[in-house]
Amino acid sequence: MFSRLPFSGILSLSCRMSSTSASVLPTSLLRSTAYVGGSWIRSSDTFPVLDPATGTELLQVADCGPSECREALKAASGAFQAWKEVPSKERSNLLRKWYDLMIQNKEDLAKIITAENGKPTKEALGEIIYAAGFLEWFSEEARRIYGDVISVPLKDRRALVLKQPVGVTAIITPWNFPSAMITRKVGAALAAGCTVVVKPAEDTPLSALALAELAHQAGIPAGVYNVLPCSRQKAPSVGEILCTDPSVAKISFTGSTATGKILLRYAADTVKRVSMELGGHAPFIVFDSADVDKAVAGALASKFRNSGQTCVCTNKFLVQKGIHDVFVKKLSVMMKKELRVGNGFEDGVTQGPLINEKAVEKVEHHVQDAVSQGANIEVGGKRSGVGKNFFEPTLLSNVTAKMVCAREETFGPLAPVIKFDTEEEALAIANSVNVGLAGYFYSQDPAQIWRVAERLEVGMVGVNEGLLSSVECPFGGVKQSGLGREGSKYGIDEYLEVKYVCYGGL
Ligand code: NAP
Repeated sequence: MFSRLPFSGILSLSCRMSSTSASVLPTSLLRSTAYVGGSWIRSSDTFPVLDPATGTELLQVADCGPSECREALKAASGAFQAWKEVPSKERSNLLRKWYDLMIQNKEDLAKIITAENGKPTKEALGEIIYAAGFLEWFSEEARRIYGDVISVPLKDRRALVLKQPVGVTAIITPWNFPSAMITRKVGAALAAGCTVVVKPAEDTPLSALALAELAHQAGIPAGVYNVLPCSRQKAPSVGEILCTDPSVAKISFTGSTATGKILLRYAADTVKRVSMELGGHAPFIVFDSADVDKAVAGALASKFRNSGQTCVCTNKFLVQKGIHDVFVKKLSVMMKKELRVGNGFEDGVTQGPLINEKAVEKVEHHVQDAVSQGANIEVGGKRSGVGKNFFEPTLLSNVTAKMVCAREETFGPLAPVIKFDTEEEALAIANSVNVGLAGYFYSQDPAQIWRVAERLEVGMVGVNEGLLSSVECPFGGVKQSGLGREGSKYGIDEYLEVKYVCYGGL
C-alpha cells in the first residue's frame, strides 16, 4: 500500500542518494516515489536503481504493485472526462510549457539519463532535445485534429466524421531511451485528449519521474500523467492489470517482440487498441556504387549510438564484393579512431556501458558463435577492461547469414559484415528475418535506390543516411517489429477514435 506525500516535502523524503555518480545528479528533479493523481506516492517496497557504469546504487525507488496500479488507473479514469473537454488550444499550451521546462532543464535531465542508462552525456543531451521535440510537435498537432464532412447519395442526410480521444492509455517503455520513448507516446496521447499511466523500465525510472516533476510544474492537471515505477519482479503483475483492466482503452508499448506478444495476448480479452514498437534487426547494405567514405560515416553513426542499444541500430552489414575490402578496412580504422569506451560522464567517451551484464553476455555469445563458425575479428571482440558492463566495439568479417548475429537482435556494439554478390542476394538476406523496423543502404544508382527502397521489408529506410529518426517523420515497423506509427502527423491517430455521425431528416 502507499501513502501520499506533501508536495513540498518530497526531496528530503525521496532522495536518499548514495555513491559517486549520484553526487552529480540534480536533486531538484530527482524523485523516488510514484506520481499518481498529481501527488507523490510512497510504496512500502522499494527497488534499487543502479549506475550501469559502476554497478553502484543511485537511489531506492518505490516498487509499485497491483494496488498502486489500480489507484493510478482510477486517477487516470477520473481525470479523463475533464481532460478530453479541455479546449485543444489549452492542451496545446500545457504541452508547450512542459516542452519549455524540458529545454530549460536539459542539462540536468541529460545527467539523469547518463547516470541510470550509461549513455555519454552528449548523447543523453541529444536524447533530451529529441524527447522534448515530441512535446513541442504534439503541442502543435493538438490544434490540428480534423474531422470530415462526407457527401452521401440521400438528399436529406449529411454524414460527419468526428475524431475523439480513445481514453485511458497504459504506456510501457524500455530503458534504452528513458525519456524519448515516453514523450513520443505521451505527447500524442495528451494532445488527443487521453490520460496516461506510464510504467517505465526497472533500469531507468528516474527520467520518467523527472518528467513528472516538470509536468507538475507545467500545470498538467492531476491524473493526466501518472508514473508507476516497479521492479522487474513486479512488472508481469502490473503489466497484466494495465493490459486487462476494463478502464484502459489503449495500450502503447515499446520494448522487445517477446514482451509485446505477451501484452497482445492480455489485450485480446477486452479488445483494446494497441500500439506496438518492438524489436528490430536492421540491415545496412553497401553496394559497389556507394561512396565508401559516406557509407563508413553512416555505418559508425547507425551502429554505435547508445553502444548499439537502439532498436534502429544496424544489426548486420551486407557489403558487395567489389567494395567489401575497402569498406572493412576503412570502417576498422574509423572505429579505432573515433570510438572511446568509458564512463559516460567522462569527456570524449563515445561508448558507455551496456545496460547490464545480461546484455554483455548476449554480445559475447553472438561474437563467440560467429568466430566458432569462421568469422574473423577485425576490431575488438571481447569485454572491455573498463568495467563489468563494458564491451569493446567489435567488427567481424567473413560472417554468414547462418550465424546467430545475422538472425537475432544483438543490441550491442557488434558490427558483423557479410559479403554478397548480387542485389537479389542482399535483399534475400536482409528480408530473411521476421522483423522489419529500420533498414539502410548506400548506392549512387538512382534505379537501384528506388528498387531497393521499395523491396526492403522494413518500416523506415535510410538511403545514403545512417540516422533517420525525427519527430516530424513516422516511426514504426512491419512484420514482428510492431503495429502503428509514432511521431509525425500519423502519431496522434493512434490515440483517436473515428466516429461516424449520420445526420438525417434534413
Ligand atoms: P523488454 O524487456 O520487452 O522491456 C520493455 C518494458 O516492458 C520494460 O518496462 C519492462 O519492464 C516491461 N515488461 C517486461 N515484461 C513485462 C510483462 N510481462 N508485463 C508488463 N511489462 C513488462 O525490452 P527491453 O529489453 O527493455 O528493450 C529492448 C527492446 O526494445 C529491443 O528489442 C528493442 O529493439 C526494443 N525497442 C523498440 C523500439 C521501437 O520503437 N520499435 C524502441 C526502443 C526499443 P522491466 O524493465 O521491469 O523488465
